[in-house]
Amino acid sequence: MRFETLCLHADGNKKDEWGTLTTPICQSATFVHKGVGVPSEYSYTRLSNPTRAHLENTVAALEGGEAAFAFSSGMSAVTAVMKLIKGPAHVIASDDLYGGSLRLFRNVNTFEGIDFDFVNTGDINRVKLLIRKDTKAIYCETPSNPLMQVSDISALAALAREYGLLLIVDNTFLTPYYQQPIALGADIVIHSGTKYLGGHNDTLAGFAVVNSADLAEKLAYIYKTIGACLAPFDCFLIERGIKTLPLRMDKISANAERIAGWLRRRKEVKKVYYAGFKDSKGYKVSKKQATGFGGMISFELQSRALAEQILCKVKVFQYAESLGGVESLITYPMLQTHADVPEKERNARGITDAFLRISVGIENVDDLIEDLEQAFKK
Ligand SMILES: *Cc1c(COP(=O)(O)O)cnc(C)c1O
Repeated sequence: MRFETLCLHADGNKKDEWGTLTTPICQSATFVHKGVGVPSEYSYTRLSNPTRAHLENTVAALEGGEAAFAFSSGMSAVTAVMKLIKGPAHVIASDDLYGGSLRLFRNVNTFEGIDFDFVNTGDINRVKLLIRKDTKAIYCETPSNPLMQVSDISALAALAREYGLLLIVDNTFLTPYYQQPIALGADIVIHSGTKYLGGHNDTLAGFAVVNSADLAEKLAYIYKTIGACLAPFDCFLIERGIKTLPLRMDKISANAERIAGWLRRRKEVKKVYYAGFKDSKGYKVSKKQATGFGGMISFELQSRALAEQILCKVKVFQYAESLGGVESLITYPMLQTHADVPEKERNARGITDAFLRISVGIENVDDLIEDLEQAFKK
């Protein structure tokens, strides 16, 4: 089956005894044993649940993985995956990461004996130079958040294989519709399912997809032990979201392309970060490994005052954290996603007080552009 069809029929349309078309919400914490020492297929919802199993099978199929695990949030998925790495150890991670992942690595994992080096993973030679005897993994986001740095997944995978490292890719921004890291050689794919997979800004969720039975077994053990599982109703909502993932991504990407071009032509805008610009640094690699550019755009304005004005004046765009939903959102990374990054470091990387990030939704693009137009005006 092709991708759009898999989003709806990854289970091969196996039917339960009632012939339900949509996956029922199996709202049961526990399952009755059939006899002494004879459990049913499911025993306790922290380990597994029919609604969740259905969703996990779909996500594993979309990412081309051996198994998927559905977590209560993206951060719980990242947390569980990092538990596969036992300290003392060393991990090389992208230097432009989701703020929560950065906080986890720096302020939690470091104290569990994991030492991190942060680098632009788009620069393969610099990654290679950082590999040490105790290096266990490379962790990357591509395109990255919020600077849209692109990393070459197959080049990182070749390096990881050569040195026996795990390659972990956070695929939240492009989703498997546009980019499939496991096919490119990654070992583990992570998602904040809260974003494009769910797609409606109504549920938190996270996924980890692994490429081998060995990793699946190890992660299953961590999964059932730490208990950050996705509740059946939330599984239902995410599954419903996935059914329209390709449609939403196509519309979002087309809208984003128009808006990125519009922003670039504005004299008030100093710089636009968007993976789909032909003259952007990562464009060639993007074209090689992904089939679309997604809906994320960051831009730097001439002044902080204008950034604040835009945040106050937008009417269609909503000033809110998060991304990947049907509604267009605008965020102020300095005060929101990257509030924990020291100011000097933030500024050095270009995430200044005049820097905004937008997540383009599925509204009519002319309404979005008109909204920005009026928000830019004094
Ligand atoms: C939002 C996000 C996360 C964290 O996911 P939550 O569902 O908010 O816990 C991780 N990585 C990326 C790229 C994200 O955008």
